This record gives sequence, C-alpha cells and structure tokens, in this order.
Amino acid sequence: MKQDLKSMTLAEMQDAFAAIGEPKFRAKQVFVWLHRGAASFDEMTNLSKPLRQRLDGLYDITAPEIVRKLQSQKDGTIKYLWKLRDGNCVESVLMQYHHGNSICISSEVGCPMGCKFCASTLGGLVRRLEPSELLDQVIFAQKDSGMEISNIVLMGIGEPLDNFDNVMRFLELVNSPEGMNISMRHISLSTCGLVPKIDELAKRKLQLTLSVSLHAPNDEVRDRIMPVNKAYPSEELLAACRRYYQATSRRISFEYAMIDGVNDRPEDAKELLRRLKGLPAHFNLIPLNHVEESPLKPSTRAAVAAFQKTLEDGGVTATVRRTLGGDIDASCGQLRRKYNQSKEKR
Ligand code: SAH
Repeated sequence: MKQDLKSMTLAEMQDAFAAIGEPKFRAKQVFVWLHRGAASFDEMTNLSKPLRQRLDGLYDITAPEIVRKLQSQKDGTIKYLWKLRDGNCVESVLMQYHHGNSICISSEVGCPMGCKFCASTLGGLVRRLEPSELLDQVIFAQKDSGMEISNIVLMGIGEPLDNFDNVMRFLELVNSPEGMNISMRHISLSTCGLVPKIDELAKRKLQLTLSVSLHAPNDEVRDRIMPVNKAYPSEELLAACRRYYQATSRRISFEYAMIDGVNDRPEDAKELLRRLKGLPAHFNLIPLNHVEESPLKPSTRAAVAAFQKTLEDGGVTATVRRTLGGDIDASCGQLRRKYNQSKEKR
C-alpha cells in the first residue's frame, strides 16, 4: 500500500523527502500543490518528470469524486456528495454568510452514536475518515465552487471526537500557513458529548469553538433521544464543559434541536438556566429537521420563540439557526442515505 501523502504535515513530508535524498524545499512545493487540490503528481509542473514518477511510486494522493452536487435556488448553498477511494460516500455543505463562506464537513462514514433524530446514524458507523479525507472536503469544495472558504464547522456526518487523532491532525493541516491557512477561531467542532475526549481537547487549548449537542434539559429527556447520555450523563457533560471553559476561556456553544412536545417547554428552558449557572454559553436553537424514519417532529415557531425569550431573559444568548438549503436536503446524512438507498434498489 502506498502512503497517504496528504495526511502528512509539512515537517513530516520534509523528513520523508530527506530520507529519499530530496531537498526540503521540494516537500514544501508538493505540500502547496496538494493543499491547492492537485489530484496527481503530473499536475506538479515545477517538479522534474523523474521525481514525479518516483513520488508516484511511493505515495497516494486522495481526490474525492463529486457524485452529486446540489445548489439551492433560494440561498446558493451547495451540497456535495463525495465518493471516497473505497466507494464510500460522505457529504459537505458550503454556505454563504455575511462573514464569509463556511463549509460543514463530515468526520466519519456513518456514525456510531445513535441519536434518535439524526439521519447520519441510521446505518451505524462504517469507518472513520483519514486526515486527508477531512481536508479534501475543504480543498475540493473551494476548488470546484471557486468560492474562498474562510470558516469550517465539523458538524456533518459522524462524531468528530470519536475520530479524535485524525481530526486533530486535520486541524493542524488546515491551519498551516502553507496550506488553507484557516485560523482556529474560524473553526467549530460539534460533539454529542464524549466527556473524556472533551477533556483531552481542553488540554490542547485550541482557539476553536466547541459546540455541544445538548438537546435536552435533563437526563430523563436526553436518555430518550441520545444514547450517549447513558455513558456520560448530562451532569458529567456540563462539568466537562465547565472544565473546558476554565482551560480555554472559550465560551461553549450549545446546540439544541427543538422537538415538539419533547424538549421545548418554557420549564425546559428554565431548567437549563438553572443547570448552566455561571457557565458562559450560547444557545443555537435548531428547529428539528424532520427525518422520514423518525416519529419526532419540529417545534412550532411560537414554541421556539418563547424558548429563546426565556433563555435570553435568563441572561443566556440564544439564536435560532437560519435554515439554509432547505430545498436541497442540506441537513446532514440525508443525501448520503438517499443515494445509498437508490443504489440498493438497483
Ligand atoms: N456528532 C456531532 C456532530 C454532527 S451532527 C454532534 O452530535 O454534535 C451536527 C448537529 O446536528 C448536532 O447538533 C446534531 O445533534 C444535529 N442534528 C442531527 N440531526 C438533526 C435533525 N434531524 N434536526 C436538527 N438537528 C439535527
């Protein structure tokens, strides 16, 4: 098996090139090509032909194939379904905001976490993505769309903290000045609440935004919709959030999918306020995206507005997530699922 070159840091590439007698600057040239989306060594025209052939014999370059590309007529949001080299598919969504273009990327093929409202987890985990495959979603979306990407959210298919080492390496790669050069402050990582991994992340003291998918005011509700809560009950999760804040001084962003009659009463918002006391937090209220296979329904607009007001009155900022790409199944897991189902039928 040839080695996956794009998963290497520049320093590692320099060492690997030194070991085969190539000068350091060659590694940098290759690194720059890869991070600009070169799909083969032949594209690297500032390298000699013999060197290109030699590298091709040693290393593999990942380059996902676009199997579906949908663009919203309403807001320009683009959804990509990528086929990876082993035939598995993952999704990314490229969104335009006032502050720049933001891409939501997947961290795994499928997901092991089993949240009851989520389409990504219906078939379980297939495999974790390599650092290069995480990076490719950013590189090739930018290359294909011609839109410069300045923000990344790890909120697509999968649980990023279940793929911890590869995600950490991806962050280092996408942050490198010779590559995409995207600052940590422009990156958000979303987790369903793997407490030991949150503690491990805290130790790294990265300036990224940690988003925690809370979705419930207490264990009684959370146990019903998020199996992870059995392993790490909400009290432990909130304690980890407090430790994270102490270590990084970064305010936690809580995601809260509003589900009709399940977690959307004013008492639920009040309970949250009591439990979060003293922890600087922001709430992202997301009206549930209805998934065909699930009986759960989105909250009414009035319930969302009332919930938001209760949080705000209690001193916790809360925004209602603007839904983008509603006409293209832009929420995570839906496109991959449809594609896999249509393949099974054939
Ligand atoms: N595994 C990570 C990141 C992926 S999901 C996590 O759990 O945070 C990104 C966000 O979308 C999570 O907050 C997730 O709970 C939420 N989500 C999943 N399905 C949803 C749906 N049908 N409607 C609204 N939000 C959903």
